Amino acid sequence: LDIEEFRRQGHMIIDFLADYYQNIEKYPVRSQVDPGYLKSRLADSAPYHPESIETILNDVEKDILPGITHWQSPTHFALFPCSMSIPGFLGEVLSTGFGTVGFNWMSSPAATELENVVMDWFGKMLNLPSSFLFSGGGGGVLQGTTCEAMVATLTAARDQMLRKIGKANIGKLVVYASDQTHFSVQKAAQITGINSNNFRVIQTTKSTNFGLSSDSLHSAINADIDAGLVPLFLCATVGTTVATAVDPLRSICGLAKQHEIWVHVDAAYAGSACICPEFQHFLDGIDGANSFSLNAHKWFFTTLDCCCLWVQDPNALIKALSTKPDYLKNQATDSNRVVDYKDWQIALSRRFRALKLWLVLRSYGIVNLQKFIRNHVKMAKHFEGLIAKNNNFEVVIPRNFSVVCFRLSPFALTGNQKIMSSEEDLNEINRKLLESINSSGRVYMTHGMIGGVYTIRFAVGASLTDYRHVELAWKAIQEHADTLLNDLCV
Ligand code: PLP
Repeated sequence: LDIEEFRRQGHMIIDFLADYYQNIEKYPVRSQVDPGYLKSRLADSAPYHPESIETILNDVEKDILPGITHWQSPTHFALFPCSMSIPGFLGEVLSTGFGTVGFNWMSSPAATELENVVMDWFGKMLNLPSSFLFSGGGGGVLQGTTCEAMVATLTAARDQMLRKIGKANIGKLVVYASDQTHFSVQKAAQITGINSNNFRVIQTTKSTNFGLSSDSLHSAINADIDAGLVPLFLCATVGTTVATAVDPLRSICGLAKQHEIWVHVDAAYAGSACICPEFQHFLDGIDGANSFSLNAHKWFFTTLDCCCLWVQDPNALIKALSTKPDYLKNQATDSNRVVDYKDWQIALSRRFRALKLWLVLRSYGIVNLQKFIRNHVKMAKHFEGLIAKNNNFEVVIPRNFSVVCFRLSPFALTGNQKIMSSEEDLNEINRKLLESINSSGRVYMTHGMIGGVYTIRFAVGASLTDYRHVELAWKAIQEHADTLLNDLCV
């Protein structure tokens, strides 16, 4: 490691990225390349002789940038945000720079202890019950992604139940989710050996704004018990992937408790909003859940990857995930006075993720983090107002956070005497509208089906987004809609 080269090249990369951010609005938001574009541009095999960083960066600009979808662009309104920030980025650089591998306390005490501290800080900011904090007997861990957190918690729940009913009964375990739940729970069920016939998807409806109804859950649980099965795990969501719907935690956790069902609350996107008191009612009833997670890499200005998972009973996780090889034996572990995070996750090796979260929390303070979230929500509200005022569009489902679900309305077609349309026609026209907007590269949004309705999602949360970008998006949407509607007339 040549220290002076490290310094020189490091500065170059920061300059490169600063220029990238300065010019980010010039790039098409969604990459416009065709599949396989890169292979033809690059050599067939790795270079035998070294190449300079200057040459490589040139190629990044020429070959890699065209194939990048610019998630940090201020007109990226697709999926959920993956919000960047200076402290998030620099924390990432610091932790990568240290190159530590903090799998147990001994392997890097600061990595473990800082994680303990930031998880309690963050838990307090969310007003989580103290039973989720280290200071209250629970605890938090930084996983890479929600998918990993889901596998870890479902494994803990499975083993806890199997200790009670015997391993031979694994085929009887049942996992519950709603039709709006992210696929991560289904994947976790597949991985953890849950019988594929025992994965229950409970239908939601418009009457509950696509949140899980505890009556439907109750019926499903009763039917399974009557069939001799064992209800095991329920994934409840605060801020579902498409509609950002919220499941009513208090009623479903109450129900789950009666049947000793482990409840995991997945708040991957919307959990961050709950640092603002006005959103904390969405977590009402969280005390009845066993585990709770959110992705700080979505809407909390902390770079990918950073999934925060809290559990009320760390021992359930540890019993399921702990191994004690001789080569990792050490006095700190034996003293039982430390956390060994390798026992709270699937992998052994782990990154020093706490550093970037710590930098974000300290550099902004709670006051600014709340301000950012509220500003995004206000921009979404503003966009929702624009949609509501225009007869050609409609809001598909009331907004909870910073995502607006909308579409070209039936009026846009029939009201303007253009064509009579069925729901399928309308879905198809909205699909065309979205594709035409995204192909322009000006704005990027994605879609979801909500109760059979093709819905365009406008997700605010990129760190650079301002009102000007919301207006720009609205202009692009209207222009593309006008062209599409005119084309339908001829
Ligand atoms: N849960 C919800 C509600 C999500 O929206 C997503 C992704 O958008 C996930 C889980 C998956 O997150 P990850 O990519 O961290 O596994």
